Amino acid sequence: MSETILNQAASKGPLTRLVTQLFFRKARVTDHVVLAPALHHITLEGEALKGVSWTAGDKIQIRLGAGLQTRTYTPIAWDPVVGSTSFVAQTLSPGPGSEWVTHAKNGAEVELMGPRSSLALGTSAKQDVWVLGDETAFGLTLALGAGRAVLEVDSPEHWGPLCHAWGLPATLVAKQPDDAHLARMEESIGMSISPQTHFILAGRANTIQHLLKALRARGIRSDRIRSKAYWAPGKTGLD
Ligand SMILES: Cc1cc2nc3c(=O)[nH]c(=O)nc-3n(C[C@H](O)[C@H](O)[C@H](O)COP(=O)(O)OP(=O)(O)OC[C@H]3O[C@@H](n4cnc5c(N)ncnc54)[C@H](O)[C@@H]3O)c2cc1C
Repeated sequence: MSETILNQAASKGPLTRLVTQLFFRKARVTDHVVLAPALHHITLEGEALKGVSWTAGDKIQIRLGAGLQTRTYTPIAWDPVVGSTSFVAQTLSPGPGSEWVTHAKNGAEVELMGPRSSLALGTSAKQDVWVLGDETAFGLTLALGAGRAVLEVDSPEHWGPLCHAWGLPATLVAKQPDDAHLARMEESIGMSISPQTHFILAGRANTIQHLLKALRARGIRSDRIRSKAYWAPGKTGLD
């Protein structure tokens, strides 16, 4: 049965109401800023976000529509006293997540699951962590306060000023349809990485696989690498 049919069925039944009551928190959109084309910063607030324990790198899942369909995002910060959180979302994917993000208006009610653990700094010092990823990993990079990022992006011309404004030291590599740019991402990692450097890989599954091989080929031990595919071509709502 397709995801759409499942969601339509779920939206009519008591199961959705029960799951919602048990697992979802209610909040409202209180700010929505378009940072760059196809990149949005959204702030949520609500009583249900108060007193929540959050660790940088945790994920939230935003409910889309009346069923149980969700899409996943990475909070940049969480204020458990005010009851607020914010995340950065791309709208390059032609799916319901992008649709929701594009039209998220101030005051709109939101239901979300989480925060739940996904990727974390662990015992690594922030400045020793490099994030390798794409637009979807921008929020993760900010949340972790990573020392450096190498990001494959659609429009590097918009990203330079953005990274500067957010104080993020990042190397931006323009995506190419034949993936020729992955060699540039590898080069950007450079040879001067210290033995303390830890790598967090997040974003497109194919890029992660490529860079994992490249890091291992350089002799980087697996306990210095963590990875999570945030999306894969042709797959929806990967989580
Ligand atoms: C743990 C976790 C944390 C995440 N955090 C963030 C975050 O903070 N910010 C953020 O923007 N995203 C984040 N993502 C990725 C986001 O959940 C996906 O990009 C999601 O698929 C978008 O939903 P959609 O409904 O727009 O597209 P979907 O319906 O899921 O997919 C539609 C089509 O778009 C393609 N697609 C999906 N993502 C992209 C993309 N980035 N570029 C091009 N094509 C794409 C899919 O392969 C599919 O073919 C995270 C994912 C995970 C698993």
